[in-house]
Amino acid sequence: MFELPKLHYAYDALEPTIDAKTMEIHHTKHHQAYIYNLNKARAGTALEGKTIEEICKTGTETPAVRNNGGGHFNHTLFWEILTPGGAKEPVGNVKSALDAYGGFEKFKTDFSEAAKTRFGSGWAWLCKKADGSLEVCSTPNQDNPLMPVGCGGKPILGLDVWEHAYYLNYQNRRPDYVTAFFEVINWDKVEELYNK
Ligand code: MN
Repeated sequence: MFELPKLHYAYDALEPTIDAKTMEIHHTKHHQAYIYNLNKARAGTALEGKTIEEICKTGTETPAVRNNGGGHFNHTLFWEILTPGGAKEPVGNVKSALDAYGGFEKFKTDFSEAAKTRFGSGWAWLCKKADGSLEVCSTPNQDNPLMPVGCGGKPILGLDVWEHAYYLNYQNRRPDYVTAFFEVINWDKVEELYNK
């Protein structure tokens, strides 16, 4: 059974970028609901015993598995790549790969655009392609690029642009939330995911 992962920081640790109430509801209600429904949807199916990555790659034909499996994978990644007072710049191999991509500023522009222009609910991603290069994309709903959608790379950084992720603090101002996100990125974790 999948279980709700613990956060490595307090709910109020990311303020003022992300407020404590949003973090608490997002973690204990939204993410928990995806896990509950994923466990229910895969019970008694061939997906039992599979990792969440395998489920995202192979379970996409069943809507309940796709939506809730994506929801679990996406939020687990999201909590990990956030940190209070995050490093403001990428490091190590990610820094080199972003230089090859066109530079950190180009990445910020492209990623922000992907996040702001995703119509309705979804995610913006930075992904590692098979050749080690980086690509930015966005996906709808709780999809992610492990599924047959998006750029096809491995997600190493993601931003939740569902309204539940920012509405209490930012209301309709998604662009402000996207800009503030760069203040709380855990680039050490992004580097770790890139190197895995
Ligand atoms: Mn969410």
